[in-house]
Amino acid sequence: MDIFTKEKRSWVMSRVKNRDTKPELLVRTTIREMGIHFRTSPKNLPGKPDIVLGPQKKAIFVHGCFWHHHNGCGKATLPKNNARWWQEKISQNEKRDRRVNRMLLKQGWRTLVLWECRLRDPAKLSQVIRHFIAQKRITPYHARFN
Ligand SMILES: [Zn+2]
Repeated sequence: MDIFTKEKRSWVMSRVKNRDTKPELLVRTTIREMGIHFRTSPKNLPGKPDIVLGPQKKAIFVHGCFWHHHNGCGKATLPKNNARWWQEKISQNEKRDRRVNRMLLKQGWRTLVLWECRLRDPAKLSQVIRHFIAQKRITPYHARFN
């Protein structure tokens, strides 16, 4: 038996995370247009970052404001029905995000989180990405070889 009403179900489904969500495509297109090569969702990395620049060890996450709880964002408000269930679910996502980030940093990766609500300005978006890519990679491991 379905635990959701029909309306609720379609609301939930509309928010289900999938690999090729629009914000993610937008970011990919932007990076492609910058002439930069990348991989998507590599399974061998913690949290399967949405976009990965292997040689530079840079990982980009495109986060939906609702699922990843963008602090202070209007899209991050919890539904009133089953509020506690949602609270628990979203806070688990937040914990996982933090854990994944820590693991990546430990492995010498740099990470960037792009929030879906902040992707509207293409010029700003490519500026943020360019800045992130230009940052020097300094990790304890690689510093020894520089
Ligand atoms: Zn947001």
